[in-house]
Formats: sequence, C-alpha cells, structure tokens
Amino acid sequence: MTSTASPTETTLKPALVRRNLPGTKLEDAYQFPHISLDKYESAFALQEYLQSLIRTDKENIDLLVELPPGHEEEAWQYEHLRQLCLELNYLVVQLEAECNRQSCPEMKADEWMYLCAAHQSPTNCCAIDYIVHTLDGATTLLNSQKYFPSRISIPESSLKHYQSIARRLYRIFAHAWFHHREVFEAFENENLLYARFLKLSDRYGLVAKNLLIIPRSNDIDNDSRDNIPSSEVSELT
Ligand SMILES: [Zn+2]
Ligand SMILES: [Zn+2]
Repeated sequence: MTSTASPTETTLKPALVRRNLPGTKLEDAYQFPHISLDKYESAFALQEYLQSLIRTDKENIDLLVELPPGHEEEAWQYEHLRQLCLELNYLVVQLEAECNRQSCPEMKADEWMYLCAAHQSPTNCCAIDYIVHTLDGATTLLNSQKYFPSRISIPESSLKHYQSIARRLYRIFAHAWFHHREVFEAFENENLLYARFLKLSDRYGLVAKNLLIIPRSNDIDNDSRDNIPSSEVSELT
C-alpha cells in the first residue's frame, strides 16, 4: 500500500469556489453556503462576506452592520456604502413606475427641497433625475482611484465623503417615504434596506440625527425629532 493521498482529498476545495459559473440559472446562483470571513481568499473578501450575509439573513440587521473582528471600520463602511448604492438601484426601478418629471418636478421630501450636486453648480433636478444622478455620482466617487485607491485601507482624507454620500442617499429613501409610500413599503418589506441604512448611520454617525426626517416608529406617538424645517427651501446639496 502506498501512502499517497487521494487526489480528491488534496486538490478539491469546493467551499472556496464561490463563483456562479457561466450558464448558471438565476435560481441556482449564489447557492454556496455562508462561510466565516477568514475563509475567503479574495481581494474582495469584505464585499463577498457582506453580500453573503445579506443573502443568508438580511433581517439580522445588527449582524449585518457589526464590524467583523480584525477589520478596519472605514473599510467596512466603504463596502456598506457601495452595497447600498447597488441595492438602491432596485428601489429606483420601482420608483420609475410613478416618479417622473410630471409627478415630482422637484426633489422633495416632506417640506424639504434638495438641489442636485451632480452638476457644475447645484441644480434643481426633478426627483427621479436627482435620484439617478445622485446614485451615479456616489458610485463614481466610491470607484474613484483618486479617493479610494484601496478597499482595504481607506485614506483618512477620503472619509469626509462618507457623510456626504450617506446624506444624499438618505434623501432617496426620504423622497420615497414621503411621496411614494406604497413603493417604499413594498420595497422595504422585501429588502429591509432602509432599516440597514438607519442602523449603519446610527452605528457610524453617517447622517446627523436632525437630517433624519422619516419618523421612526417610536417617534409616532412622541415626536422627538428636532428638525422642523422652517422654510420651504432648506439646505441642499
Ligand atoms: Zn417622486
Ligand atoms: Zn442632477
């Protein structure tokens, strides 16, 4: 008898082949099991880990947002922001059915009106344009080699962009909540994306509390918000 190990023991690492092969049907895609972060052998480990968590248990918001041990908080927030942009595109698809230049000629949420920052100077884009421009702008910024040359270590000078990105993404939720409630609720029931956003914002201080204008469920009886807009047009870009 020889002591040579069987090739199947030595060469196959099925858990590491975490790719949808060409020709995979949609319902069969991503059917690999969730594994702990240290098992990933990829330059995009944090992203893959986050996406796997979402697929596995998107209702576990606390776990989704919790910083994985041994990783930089800034890199984790970065992956979350990228992921939010990706998933917000699905909300936009739903909004496009009823949000257009006629229904929403300005980007508003409740009494607030927002100017689009995706132009040479702040511009009064209609809501759906604002939303698309904002998502494109955030995605472009997060993919910028200049500001985010590495996904593992984020330059300190780039961190200031997190808050401006989050503040603008928040307005997409706010517009949907105030002006397209049914769309918002159907999407949120399915995806819990706003719940994740809010937890992320609270955990990492992304959006100032006084700019969070969607009432929280525990605010409905006891409105503790401190941002009562005093004029039609408030801050803006
Ligand atoms: Zn609209
Ligand atoms: Zn615009």
